[in-house]
Amino acid sequence: MQANDSIIVINAGSSSIKFSMYSGPALDLTLRGKIENLYSGVARFIAQNADGSVVGEREWRDGPLNHEGGMRFLVDFAQTHLDGHRVIAVGHRIVHGGVAHSGPQRLDAALVDELEKLVPLAPLHLPHNLAPVRSVLAMAPDVPQIGCFDTAFHVGQPAEAQEFALPARITDLGVRRYGFHGLSYEYIASVLPKAEPRLAQAKVVAAHLGNGASMCAMQSGRSMASTMGFTAVDGLPMGTRCGALDPGVVLYLMQELGMDVAAVQKLMYQESGLLGVSGISSDMRTLEQSDEPRAKAAIALMVYRIGRELGSLAAALGGLDALVFSGGIGENSVALRSAVCKDAAWLGVELDEAANAANPRGVTRVSAPGSKVDVWVIPANEELMIAQHALELVEAG
Ligand code: ADP
Repeated sequence: MQANDSIIVINAGSSSIKFSMYSGPALDLTLRGKIENLYSGVARFIAQNADGSVVGEREWRDGPLNHEGGMRFLVDFAQTHLDGHRVIAVGHRIVHGGVAHSGPQRLDAALVDELEKLVPLAPLHLPHNLAPVRSVLAMAPDVPQIGCFDTAFHVGQPAEAQEFALPARITDLGVRRYGFHGLSYEYIASVLPKAEPRLAQAKVVAAHLGNGASMCAMQSGRSMASTMGFTAVDGLPMGTRCGALDPGVVLYLMQELGMDVAAVQKLMYQESGLLGVSGISSDMRTLEQSDEPRAKAAIALMVYRIGRELGSLAAALGGLDALVFSGGIGENSVALRSAVCKDAAWLGVELDEAANAANPRGVTRVSAPGSKVDVWVIPANEELMIAQHALELVEAG
């Protein structure tokens, strides 16, 4: 990779496209931006360079913008702001790779068609991940595109961690636990041994706590179990998702309350979690600043469920050497880290309250010197993980 070579990373969600550009052999972040509010109201674009200065802004007031229109704009924008950089690859975050895709792969039209078959497994996200791949294939067919799957990191989990206790004929249809946030956990697994070589072979539970939230048990940097399952609604309560639910609740909602599939889906994905319990907000910052008892109850429920899952994941590992916090909440909420660690004292977790309260930036240990279990804060960086994968694949030819 030459100094002026760049890799663009695309992370396309249902209503937004985020992009980052990494340049030179050290993969320095040189440009990042996003288009938000696709399909509804006024779509907005903003881009910043490495030092945070705004280098592009735009709004679409003449009707909704779709993924294709957004990508067309981004490709044009990138071309006019390349500043002598040459794009050698585009890396994409792809939510689902099924069981067959256990690592990053070069994307071509045939592979995109194959991935399209997985849409029923992730109907809310996968079409939006694939749309930009098709756009780039049409607009710049010679630029290599690399797909990085959120499920791939979990493909090697033990069979028991992946199976539901359902009849084999249902399991055989692909109804199994896949786990998500894999790129975030893979990044954590790559960073932790560099920060503390003693932890290279360790039993680690990492908590990626953002608007979506999950936890992952890792042994020697490999995924052994995760709280998200068949879909990304399982496990922890999240901003607006309910997390693990007795499946009997779904039957009750449909049979007794007469809710249809769309209503149950809306309830579980958009109206539950921190928002549903508090009735105030899905945003942890807002809840932490509120004096309302229901805001406190929502946070307490999240802390409780993190503690329960931590015990379960430590059991899956047969011990615990380190706990890692990541994601917007994990990286920033001093109070949540403190509460989770207090509840985990029985596992040998002891926080250094001062180090925790300093709310570190970057990769930092926040456990007390004598703590049996290390506690770390590692800022999430799925985009860099994708750029690294893209570079490896391009260099491998
Ligand atoms: P996403 O999953 O959409 O990428 P993020 O990882 O950015 O989301 O996490 C968003 C969450 O992080 C929100 O609940 C937000 O309130 C929370 N958060 C961000 N900063 C803070 C902070 N200083 N204190 C507490 N929570 C915070």
